[in-house]
Amino acid sequence: MKSRAELLQNLAGDKLPDILIIGGGINAVGLYRDLAAQGVPALLVEKGDFCSGTSAAPSRLIHGGLRYLETGEFALVRESVEERNLLLHNASHYVRPLPVWVPVTSWWAGFLSAGARFLRLTRTPGPRGALVLKLGLTVYDWFGAKYRSMPKHRMIGGKEALRQMPGLLPAICSVGEFYDARLTNAERLTLELVADAEADCPAALAIPYLAVAGHDGKDVLLRDEIEGTVHRVAPQIVINAAGAWIDQVDAHLGIEERLVGGTKGSHLVLDHRDLARALGERMIYFPTSDHRICLAYPLDERLVLVGTTDLPTDDPEDMTCSEVEIDYLFRVMKEIMPAIRLNRSQIVFRYAGVRPLPKATSGIVAGAISRDHHIRPFARTEKRPYEVLTLVGGKWTTYRACAEQIADQVLERIGKSRRTDTRSLQIGGGAGWPLEPAKQRQQITEIARQSGLSLEHCTALADRYGAYAATVAAAIVAEGIGADRPLKTCADYSRGEIRHLIRAERTTRLADLVLRRTQIGLFGKVTPGLLNELADLMAQDLSWNEDRRSREITDTTRLLEQRHGVAALYKQADENRAGVARPVS
Ligand SMILES: Cc1cc2nc3c(=O)[nH]c(=O)nc-3n(C[C@H](O)[C@H](O)[C@H](O)COP(=O)(O)OP(=O)(O)OC[C@H]3O[C@@H](n4cnc5c(N)ncnc54)[C@H](O)[C@@H]3O)c2cc1C
Repeated sequence: MKSRAELLQNLAGDKLPDILIIGGGINAVGLYRDLAAQGVPALLVEKGDFCSGTSAAPSRLIHGGLRYLETGEFALVRESVEERNLLLHNASHYVRPLPVWVPVTSWWAGFLSAGARFLRLTRTPGPRGALVLKLGLTVYDWFGAKYRSMPKHRMIGGKEALRQMPGLLPAICSVGEFYDARLTNAERLTLELVADAEADCPAALAIPYLAVAGHDGKDVLLRDEIEGTVHRVAPQIVINAAGAWIDQVDAHLGIEERLVGGTKGSHLVLDHRDLARALGERMIYFPTSDHRICLAYPLDERLVLVGTTDLPTDDPEDMTCSEVEIDYLFRVMKEIMPAIRLNRSQIVFRYAGVRPLPKATSGIVAGAISRDHHIRPFARTEKRPYEVLTLVGGKWTTYRACAEQIADQVLERIGKSRRTDTRSLQIGGGAGWPLEPAKQRQQITEIARQSGLSLEHCTALADRYGAYAATVAAAIVAEGIGADRPLKTCADYSRGEIRHLIRAERTTRLADLVLRRTQIGLFGKVTPGLLNELADLMAQDLSWNEDRRSREITDTTRLLEQRHGVAALYKQADENRAGVARPVS
């Protein structure tokens, strides 16, 4: 990958792509990737890092959305389960099967009300019993038949469910078990799509920390968020894929129509070995007393992800999980697993994001707003000599299909036809990464043989990067003697690996490394010592002076404390300086 500095230099040249994509979340990057596969370069600009908006805040599920069946969004569910099945194959290093349990306390509840919701006679959610669930799961299986690779659903009796998951509410009469998928590394999947795009189409440029800041009747103005300088570009077509920020971006381009009406959702990462053990490999996807659906599933042998809330907001920057939301998530967990003890000291990380939902008519319950997407075109005008296509909505799961739809509109406008079907394109380290564990072990052994790194080290790399582990291993070796040794403050990463992530992946700020190139933040592993060590490495590679180095540490510390609630962890880490060698996956 070219560095950010090189791309900024290219920006000053006169051979820029005619297509400008605004946003660096999964939907913008998905489109960038699709166009590149057609040989059409685009300029993509993102005001922060790639995948730093809502795309970094999901429940990390690649799923059909079982509950959208209730609101009659059949087309969305069908599209989503098909996309899920494709991603299980194309990104098998980051998209993995997830058994899901839906526990219910009644057989008959919701039979009439679910029907009424389906017929749009009411929008208000209500209770769901085993019969309604069985019906929903049968339809879900049916939709998932195309490219199926996971088992169909089954119903489990209450007694058997309690035997297998002892912490569950004793009043459970039945559990519906089905398979969806979890996205183990949303941030890296986005980055790898950028890399794939640029490998296919070297004229494409994706530049982080470059924000659309306005227009002047001819050009679009782009502000470098690091240096403060302003660049001008004159695109032919603009695609606004800025998620919850689309209205703000459209306003920068002189468009006043309001399209988005977001809802905020928050998640907690709990360090809770007992809860992780009780859940096993499964996710519980459970109805709450206020008739919403929440979820909990293990990230590793002791960390559990719990979510989520759904609160209307007009502010896309409302990315902090509040104390009230923590109380809510604890309360609903208590309803379904009453014996499990939860307290705030178990939270190692929290995150929130704003769903970019279409502006809904007032009075509608947040959970009932459509999760589907559409494209709103704005014709060119005298004061805006380019067409703007604004994407409203769009889930993680359906990003490829969404990108395909927008790319087809762009291709039509520039008089080209599609040459590559992205359904069969594998992604990043998913390319050539086998599904079978025995074949994976063979590949890891080969990486160890070729690189000379230990089998244990290569296994950790493969777990993090899939087939891309071979490239990372080679980069570590090229770094020279000692580069494979662990960092002083975090046993999971070597110096050589971090250096590769800084140099090869347009890493611009310290937070990019902590939150998106690695999962050090999400897995609650940040300590002040680790931030210092990472900042030293970045300073060497990116020629930061002392002022910039210390500013990066201060900013990242503030972000982790204020947005991700890791302050308590800092104190704890200081006390236990010896550190725990828990692996980061
Ligand atoms: C709580 C929650 C749970 C969810 N769970 C799931 C799930 O499990 N599965 C699923 O499929 N979906 C899920 N979603 C939905 C999914 O995460 C989002 O719909 C999706 O990530 C939106 O991606 P995006 O690229 O459209 O937006 P974003 O990721 O927000 O990207 C938009 C980008 O535009 C950038 N931007 C803003 N202004 C400018 C500017 N002026 N110039 C340049 N760039 C700008 C922002 O910085 C941002 O990075 C969930 C969402 C939430 C909030």
